[in-house]
Amino acid sequence: MITRFAPSPTGRLHLGHAFSALTVWALATAAEGTALLRIEDNDSTRARPEYETAIYEDLHWLGLDWPEPVRRQSEHAADYAAALDRLAVRGLVYPCSCSRGRIMAEGGTPGIEGIVYPGTCRGRAMESARPGDALRLDLGAALAAAGPLPGYTETGPRHAGTHAVDAAALMRDFGDPIYRRRITGDTAYLFACPHDDHAQQVTHVVRGMDLWTTTPLFVLLQVLMDWPVPVFHHHELVTDGTGRRLAKVDQSRALAAYRDDGRTPDDIRRLVGLQGLLRT
Ligand code: GLU
Repeated sequence: MITRFAPSPTGRLHLGHAFSALTVWALATAAEGTALLRIEDNDSTRARPEYETAIYEDLHWLGLDWPEPVRRQSEHAADYAAALDRLAVRGLVYPCSCSRGRIMAEGGTPGIEGIVYPGTCRGRAMESARPGDALRLDLGAALAAAGPLPGYTETGPRHAGTHAVDAAALMRDFGDPIYRRRITGDTAYLFACPHDDHAQQVTHVVRGMDLWTTTPLFVLLQVLMDWPVPVFHHHELVTDGTGRRLAKVDQSRALAAYRDDGRTPDDIRRLVGLQGLLRT
């Protein structure tokens, strides 16, 4: 069993991250598996080296350890480009030059992860790509190319069981997702993350319920790319020791602020309801 904690270094880790990391390591320990750390730093406009350094510090302070070297997404742009080419030669991605304003003007509708793209550039050939264009998955073509999709296994508390990919819901809620960002050329989360799960042979994707809705898109991509579909485990968002959601102010408070207040890693475990797990 291989799982991972994959934070983005775009701010300090807070209690929600601590809960996620502790859950990842607890599940790996229980299964005598491996917990990897991956730095998802491919949003070049938001990732900062000082936040990455702080992630190492905060996780070590919590008593967590991971195999080195740590995979950093910013070092793998060529791998993402090569993998995206495999979709391009099958006609499953297309270049898109639409700005947000244009998308709204063309009738973009609100989805669960932002605006659903109205399809203005769909059908454009890759040869027509201009510097700075985004790259989008043609979701309808991708679903057709993938054929019948396998059920995927979820072991998290809220939705444990086997789930089918609901193609109609994907079309409605996501439309054609961006795989390469406009202007910066950064690889988007929805492509880089499953790419790396495969590259790192992750068998169990453990993460928060906030990412549950993206799971069918992961499965679709995994099938398209011939990557094994891992087991998913979406944990609840951080709660206090009695199972209540923590107040927003506590959720967003940096872990370092608790440390500076003299709180211990055990206090953090107690605060997020994981006391007794992974004592150091
Ligand atoms: N990098 C993502 C985040 O910070 C997490 C990715 C995942 O666990 O699937 O929210």
